[in-house]
Amino acid sequence: MIEDMLRTPSAVRDAERYTAHNYHPLPVVISSAEGAWLTDVDGRRYLDCLAGYSALNFGHRHPTLVRAAHEQLDRLTLTSRAFIHDQFADFCRELAALCGKDLVLPMNTGAEAVETGIKVARKWGYQVKKVAPGQANIIVADGNFHGRTTTIVSFSTDADARADFGPYTPGFTVVPYGDLTALEAAIDENTVAVLLEPIQGEQGVVLPPEGYLPGVRRACTDRNVLFIADEIQSGLGRTGRTFACDHEGVVPDMYLLGKALGGGIVPVSAVAADADVLGVLRPGQHGSTFGGNPLACAVATEVVRLLATGEFQRRSAELGERLRAGLEGLLGNGLVAVRVRGLWAGVDIDPALMTGRQACERLMDRGVLAKDTHGSTIRLAPPLVITDDEVDHAVAQLAAVLAG
Ligand SMILES: *Cc1c(COP(=O)(O)O)cnc(C)c1O
Repeated sequence: MIEDMLRTPSAVRDAERYTAHNYHPLPVVISSAEGAWLTDVDGRRYLDCLAGYSALNFGHRHPTLVRAAHEQLDRLTLTSRAFIHDQFADFCRELAALCGKDLVLPMNTGAEAVETGIKVARKWGYQVKKVAPGQANIIVADGNFHGRTTTIVSFSTDADARADFGPYTPGFTVVPYGDLTALEAAIDENTVAVLLEPIQGEQGVVLPPEGYLPGVRRACTDRNVLFIADEIQSGLGRTGRTFACDHEGVVPDMYLLGKALGGGIVPVSAVAADADVLGVLRPGQHGSTFGGNPLACAVATEVVRLLATGEFQRRSAELGERLRAGLEGLLGNGLVAVRVRGLWAGVDIDPALMTGRQACERLMDRGVLAKDTHGSTIRLAPPLVITDDEVDHAVAQLAAVLAG
């Protein structure tokens, strides 16, 4: 095709012209997708190795989820929580069962689930733990990513995410990720919660040392502190188990969920916890106009049912081993480190070779879409519907990029 007949360059220009530049997207303009594959405005196809940061765990337009959305669109889309609708109870009951918790509080975005978790933990602290008024603190980890609200960026350690957005919300203590001794030392009588990602996704799929999460669980139980697991990216099948915490047999007091919960169709997030925790909220104390709306519930209930079969967790575990073997074969051949849990990989490219951004641009030219996180690290998180051959294809393209 002649270069100036392509639609991509002008579509990229238009997309940049009328929007704030809070992202630096790859210069590709997608117009349709199915399963693990994307098609751009010029008809080129790409294997999706980002899956909307795990919002697309079930692939693009999973038939069961699309059907649920269509049927719900034709019946009822919004009531607000001022009234009860007929999709609400099933969603809450089935998600609570998947989490092994009593109750669910639905919201929309991941950041809202995190904010909800913070508010619930503080209220629990004052009402149940009897922390002195205004003194509650929450312990978080260095390198965290929990979203973009002013409170959440207040305890980010990423300068880009945080700088010039103050004044910052107080009440958070940052400790090194993976260091149990530091975490235990930071807990005091006013600590209401420890908020952690069981695997730090945005940081580059960073796994804590073995035994860390069980240690955090024990410390929280011993000191009467809530353990809040932010499983917004790591949860719902991504790591080969329903939750990343499952790998170490750890059950947090609160699960924060989002991303894949909406099936890649609508934003759906939720907090799941037992009644002694979520029960502290009374009418008027928290809410959301769109949280738990009928369309969101109809889609998310089907997401929970897909997960209840265990099929996606199994696929993720099995294909993840294949991905691991492939990537480990590239160590010393352009890769300096590889971290894999299920179909989720953090890949550190030799910085002398190229940046993560450059690697992703070259992967794009070879029909594979991935995203760099920091410096020379890229994250691979394909939809869990990807096949053996497609995993091999992605690894082969990465090998070709690294070989120059
Ligand atoms: C993406 C993410 C969030 C924020 O979710 P949004 O839907 O973008 O607000 C929070 N925590 C983790 C671990 C995430 O990966």
